[in-house]
Amino acid sequence: SLAPPLLAVEGLTKSYGGIHAVRGVSFSLRSGEILALIGPNGAGKSTCFDMLNGQNRPDSGHVRLLGEETTGKKPREIWRMGVGRTFQITATFATMTVRENVQVALISHRKQLFDLWGSAPNVDRSEAGRLLELVGMGGYADRPCGELAYGDLKRLELAVALANDPKLLLMDEPTAGMAPRERVELMRLTAQIANEKSIGVLFTEHDMDVVFEHADRIIVLNRGTLIAEGSPAEVRGNPQVQAIYLGEG
Ligand code: ATP
Repeated sequence: SLAPPLLAVEGLTKSYGGIHAVRGVSFSLRSGEILALIGPNGAGKSTCFDMLNGQNRPDSGHVRLLGEETTGKKPREIWRMGVGRTFQITATFATMTVRENVQVALISHRKQLFDLWGSAPNVDRSEAGRLLELVGMGGYADRPCGELAYGDLKRLELAVALANDPKLLLMDEPTAGMAPRERVELMRLTAQIANEKSIGVLFTEHDMDVVFEHADRIIVLNRGTLIAEGSPAEVRGNPQVQAIYLGEG
């Protein structure tokens, strides 16, 4: 097809002094696809993510969203173009209710639309409710966020990210700190939503069980370089990947 991919990364490079944090990394991601970015500590995953949402500037290389260059744009602009991100540390407001957190996110999204077009639809309670239903949090709407269990907080965070109607969702270690069963639930939910809404998902993850079970495709970084790319079966069978994960680093 001639249509550009949702995300196209080309020759992305970033150094710190003599350290090549990310070196000549290229990959692409389609709408609805779940792509895992893995690699040992210090491989360059966070640096890569930060360059995808504009928090960090590459030394060279390109990032394009549906063919449109995002390289050099500010995080806010890239967010506005449809790149959402969830973090390892949850960023919700503890004293507000679950519903209020989603409403704030919706209002923020509407404000962006208003700034662009001078008018924006109202945010009503039912819309926040729909997003909460989508992540299985419908029954928690009126609880203060501070009372939520960690796994529920992660699902709320997903709803908050979805309020911006992202095309691409970057997830920093989405299942870190969760119990095994919660991990499966969160990843299934993520895949289901990505599929329904045609959202591309790129996630980093240290838990290889989660990666092999839930990613459609995997890319592997080592010392800033992309060393493998393929289906879970292909990556699992890759000798270079096996060597790294057997503890060579
Ligand atoms: P982890 O899995 O531990 O989070 P990572 O794969 O996310 O690691 P990065 O955090 O991107 O790896 O780091 C890649 C390399 O770049 C490391 O050697 C790191 O020390 C270095 N690095 C990252 N950020 C900076 C910075 N601001 N200044 C100097 N060096 C940095």
